[in-house]
Amino acid sequence: MSNIPDEIDWTLINTEDWGGGLERTYRADNVEHAGCGGDVLLVHLHDEMGAVTGAHSRCAQCGEDLTA
Ligand SMILES: [Zn+2]
Repeated sequence: MSNIPDEIDWTLINTEDWGGGLERTYRADNVEHAGCGGDVLLVHLHDEMGAVTGAHSRCAQCGEDLTA
C-alpha cells in the first residue's frame, strides 16, 4: 500500500554527512501526501563509497512513513 505514484520528479534539497557517508534528502515536485497535502520526502543513505545502503520515504508535514 503506497500513496506514491511510479513517476515522481525528485529534487535534491539536502545533503548531510552523518559520519560514515552521506544522507541525501529529496522532495517530490509533482506529488504530495494524499493524507494531508504535505511534501513527500525521500531519504537515501549512502556508505563511504557512495553506494545507497538504505532508503525511506516520509511526509514532511505529518511524518507518516510512505516507504513503498
Ligand atoms: Zn502527511
